[in-house]
Order: sequence, then C-alpha cells, then structure tokens
Amino acid sequence: MDQPIPYLDLAAQMRPLRKEIDAVIAKTLDNCTFCLGPDVAQFEQDFAQYCGAQHAVGFNSGTSALHVALLLLNLGPGDEVITTPYTFIATSWAISYVGAKPVYVDIEDLTFNLDPKLVEQAITPRTKAILPVHLYGQACDMDPLLEICRKHKLALVEDAAQSHGAKYRGKVVGTFGVTSEFSFYPGKNLGAYGEGGALVTNDAALAARARSLREHGSTQRYHHDEVGYNYRMEGLQGAVLGVKLKHLDQWSQARRRVAQRYHELLANTPLQLPREADYAESVYALYVVRHPRRDDLKKHLDAHKIGCALHYPVPLHLQKCYASLGYQPGDFPVSEKAARECLSLPIYPELTNSQIEHVAAVIRDFFKA
Ligand SMILES: *Cc1c(COP(=O)(O)O)cnc(C)c1O
Repeated sequence: MDQPIPYLDLAAQMRPLRKEIDAVIAKTLDNCTFCLGPDVAQFEQDFAQYCGAQHAVGFNSGTSALHVALLLLNLGPGDEVITTPYTFIATSWAISYVGAKPVYVDIEDLTFNLDPKLVEQAITPRTKAILPVHLYGQACDMDPLLEICRKHKLALVEDAAQSHGAKYRGKVVGTFGVTSEFSFYPGKNLGAYGEGGALVTNDAALAARARSLREHGSTQRYHHDEVGYNYRMEGLQGAVLGVKLKHLDQWSQARRRVAQRYHELLANTPLQLPREADYAESVYALYVVRHPRRDDLKKHLDAHKIGCALHYPVPLHLQKCYASLGYQPGDFPVSEKAARECLSLPIYPELTNSQIEHVAAVIRDFFKA
C-alpha cells in the first residue's frame, strides 16, 4: 500500500500561514491597492534587504524582470549574450525579446551550471553580456565569470529565479551582476499566490529606469519617456510575499535537511546525486538525480504514486523555437546528457522523514529488481 507523495505540496505550506495570509489579503482588499501600492513597496524594501542590495523592483513575473534587465543594457539586434542551454526557456526569452542573439555555452556535469572554462572561447566582438543561471538553487561559479566580464568589458546579469537566498562563498546571490532577477511563481522557493518577479540591483539609475519600464515607460502618469510595458506587480502578491519572506530562511534550511536525508538514503544506489560545489550553499529548489535508465525509473515512481518531474528534457539549443540559431544535437554534450538522465524528486520544506524514506525505498527497490 503506497502513500501517494505529490511532487509539490503548496497546500502544506499554506495551511500554517493561512490566518496571517487571510489578514493581509483582507487589508489589501479594504485598501483597494491592487496594482503596486504600499504592500509591493514594503515587499521591495524587505526583499532588497534580504538580498543585501540597495534596490528591488517588483514585477508581474520573473520573465518580465529578465526582459527589463536586458533592456537596461540597451541590447538589440546584432548583439550576442552568452548563456546556458540547460535552464528554463525564459532565460533565453529575455535575450530574444530585445532582438539580441543567445549564444550557448555548455554546463558543468557536477553542478548543471554554465561552465566558466568554456565561456571565453564563445566571446566575439558582438558579445555584450553573460547571463548565467543559478540552477536548482545552487549558485554558479561567479568569480571566474566576473573576471571574464572585467577582462572583456561585458555585463553580467544573474538569473536567480530558482535561488532566493542561495549563497556563493558565504554571500547571498543577487548582487554579483549589474542586476539579478527572481521569480515568485508559486512553485519557486519563495512563491506568490499567482505570478510575480523582481529585479534586484545596487544601481539607483538602473532601478529607476526599471520602475519606469515596468509602468508604461513613465514616471509621471500619462507622460511616457520611452516605450514601456505593463509589468507591474499586483498588490495582493506583494502582501502575500511579505508574509512568506519571513519564513524563507527556515524553509531553505528545511530543504537542506530533506536533501541531506536523500543523500544518506540514496548514497549506495547507482544514481548520480546532486552535489554542492565547495563555493556554494544550495537552497535546493530542486533535488535532481541522474541515471541512464531515467525513463524506466520515472515509470516505476509513477506506478508507486510518487511525483517526479524532468528539469529539463530538451536543452534550449534543440528547441524548435530556436531552430534558426542553427545548433545541432551533439553541440553541447554535457547538457544533452543531463537532459536524458535528470529526474527531479519531491523536495519541499514540509516533506516528512517518513515520506523521504518511502521515496528512497521505492528507488532502491527499482535497482534491486
Ligand atoms: C521560473 C524561471 C524563470 C521565469 O520566471 P516566471 O516568474 O515563471 O516568469 C526564469 N528563469 C528560470 C531559471 C526559472 O526557473
């Protein structure tokens, strides 16, 4: 008799917060502050402080924040941005939205993150920026990337959509680049009750322009300085995120406990387990194991009602939408192998020890058969 274990359990997180959430939502409704407003302004302050940054700008999604991040660099057709092919598609959307070209560089097998050793050979006179991702909650190796940016006068933008509070050499991610972008999609480590995102920066002028771009290119109503967007964060999301931010560090510690327990219980299986690089303290947005028989293992887990997922089954250079970039299978072998082998196990702060033990037992059972 199997206890079903969902891949994600948002209800388990909401339950203990429900009273507090209901109260802030009621207040926002009473005030009718639906678009931006005081709840968003307060959350922006709190989130900037959390990231050790001067400014955070609230958006209606992480994708919008990334789009604006590339607009702030004044990129356009003819410009190239070096990035990873092994991420969620939105990382590359931002580059495409401004008319620039994504130039992919393969990842490291150990961390799934952009391999700094391969970056320099991809630089051309058209390269303007590097857009790495802190994937699955683990910071990528920032020092060598920052050194390359200094040497070649490139901008660095961090896609931190999966890594709220993740640390690189003891410092939380978000202020290594000129800007960094976070997602508050419900399933992320810090999730809204709807869509949300933020752009974080220490540069006051960039923050001001980001605020203008998210609101129709205006700082004064009905006066538009440049072509802008409607990318505002909703007041209700700001209110919810303000409540949840206070719990984030405790949730990250709980995620690390789940990961540690998986490490112990799965150590003697043929799986390749996620490992932390010596410079990183991961917040384990995902717990991604690897095996060549991934598809069979997934069927086995499905049959035992254990939720699992693939992040990501098709690397970006092989996506139909990017066929015109001209990449071929084999161009990024490490990413392609990761795409064939990856399997994301359930991981969330509320996952109990007995649930973790059950997942591990079902996996060990697969390899015994
Ligand atoms: C989720 C995510 C995004 C996009 O964020 P949304 O809020 O869903 O628009 C961008 N990059 C990465 C790596 C993500 O995981």
